[in-house]
Amino acid sequence: ILKKGEVSQIKRIGILGGTFDPIHNGHLFIAEMALEDLQLDEVVFIPNRRSPHKLGVQVTEAYHRLIMTEIATIDNGKFTVTPMEIQREGPSYTIDTIHQLHKEFPENASFYFITGSDVLMDIQLWRGYRELFQLIKFAVVTRGGFNNTELEDKILYLKNQYGAEILKIKIPNLEISSTDIRKRTNEGKSIKYLVPEGIGAYIRKHGLYLSQEE
Ligand code: ATP
Ligand code: MG
Repeated sequence: ILKKGEVSQIKRIGILGGTFDPIHNGHLFIAEMALEDLQLDEVVFIPNRRSPHKLGVQVTEAYHRLIMTEIATIDNGKFTVTPMEIQREGPSYTIDTIHQLHKEFPENASFYFITGSDVLMDIQLWRGYRELFQLIKFAVVTRGGFNNTELEDKILYLKNQYGAEILKIKIPNLEISSTDIRKRTNEGKSIKYLVPEGIGAYIRKHGLYLSQEE
């Protein structure tokens, strides 16, 4: 409810969901690019408890991933972290998260869900994706693996079919992935400059990604 003289101020909030196992400079870079391009007030990082798409996959304990996400974002006043998915039982469905966020930011926020192009290509596998398109906008950031035509076709299709609002953010491709960082760590190779310094230190301190399971 607005007080006298107050101007209605719609907050523009980016959401970056992921497994963040571990968080890396690619994640931070796409958040920064979305922040700049869309003039967002804030980007909320949301580590998942369990990705519905990685149910059979071994993932590092949630508290490690949460702490690393906090460490990586500590020096950016516009990056925040919420443990809401980690605190919720069961697999983390984005549609549940959006319902929860709508309750926490009543009426005065518009949400931009930030994803890499790999994630957008698979969006129709998501629970409640049609409703998601009604509730939030998408900011898709280019990532290697798909050419521009494939991505453009997909965006057009989702717009026509579901009225999806999808903004494309073109960025210099960064070939950084958590998979590669886990692999490099496991092989004793350097991950310096792929992750923030604190993340490298955290990984070393806790001996993460050293087992041969992957
Ligand atoms: P993994 O290899 O384990 O899948 P990842 O590097 O893809 O890890 P996720 O936590 O799966 O990281 O990704 C979270 C979000 O960040 C997704 O939307 C993904 O597309 C995006 N993303 C991650 N790395 C990049 C990158 N280098 N460029 C663009 N988008 C990225
Ligand atoms: Mg991924």
